[in-house]
Amino acid sequence: MKKVLLATLCAFIVILITAQMHNKVYSRTEYMLDTVITIKADDKKAVDACFDEITRLEKLLSAYLPDSDVSRINVSDAYEKVKVSPEVVHLIKKAATYKELTDGMFDISIKPVVDLWDIKNGGYVPDDSEIADALSLTGDVLVNAQDSTVSLAKDGMKIDLGGIAKGYVGDKVREILLSHGVDSAIADLGGNIVAVGKNGSKDWLIGLQNPTAQRGSTFAEINVDDKVVVTSGGYERYFEKDGIKYHHIIDPATGKNPDNDILSITVVSDDGTLADALSTACFVAGKDKAIDIAKQCGVDIIIYSAGDVYYTSGIKINN
Ligand code: ADP
Ligand code: MG
Repeated sequence: MKKVLLATLCAFIVILITAQMHNKVYSRTEYMLDTVITIKADDKKAVDACFDEITRLEKLLSAYLPDSDVSRINVSDAYEKVKVSPEVVHLIKKAATYKELTDGMFDISIKPVVDLWDIKNGGYVPDDSEIADALSLTGDVLVNAQDSTVSLAKDGMKIDLGGIAKGYVGDKVREILLSHGVDSAIADLGGNIVAVGKNGSKDWLIGLQNPTAQRGSTFAEINVDDKVVVTSGGYERYFEKDGIKYHHIIDPATGKNPDNDILSITVVSDDGTLADALSTACFVAGKDKAIDIAKQCGVDIIIYSAGDVYYTSGIKINN
């Protein structure tokens, strides 16, 4: 029997904000980008402007809105030049850099394989030939910044910015808060935490969800000051069939879930877009390669792997 354990409306909070902000703070929560987003700051106008920005970006980046730039790319023929916003070109170019940095472990062209597993609709376990067919539809995404176009190298190819969009949107949220003069705020974009400045005179205290315990139970708390904290894990969006759990992160080399012990990866960085791509890629990479990638990219990571916790030197665990 297939057991579906997908996130319910408010359930996709991977990281818990344990710190308390002072009373005057304005907090707004919306379901957007296929997740729950909460932004808290001392300035209602700034927070509302952030949600306007998220609405704008979702219209460009969502693969589920038929008129979005991404959806228009996804119905194009091979080598057809699709005119898109320069911002989308910029983000897809970044994604290409991250693909190279991670030896293809982060790959936005993985969408045909993601669709095949169909986690969104309760899940499907494909056979090897179905996986091979879907993998044959991954490939190069070509960008032309001059004429602001994107093309796919094969008919039937599709892109999925799900592994990077929340990171990019978080960076934009941060920019908007700063442009309004907000120097202390916290935004939670479904497990992507943007901690602006400090929490008063103290660091922000971020609790990291224990992947094997009930929601709200943490395996560590970390102190951060003006950083983005992004977690990828297989324990929130998954389905179960014949006693096996299948989740939403795909190893582009196999078309299946990564074959390693990692249960969650948290990346701490100044750059949310990079952190989001790397959290997904490091989850695919496995412990040793993940640590190498983190060092190479100048980010800190925390790996929760089969009950053991590993972290790089810049992580400040709260004791
Ligand atoms: P979440 O979106 O749950 O925070 P991630 O940032 O790790 O988690 O992104 C996972 C999403 O990225 C998947 O739902 C899928 O849309 C897409 N994806 C899955 N595997 C990969 C991959 N190897 N490279 C790029 N994107 C991926
Ligand atoms: Mg990611």
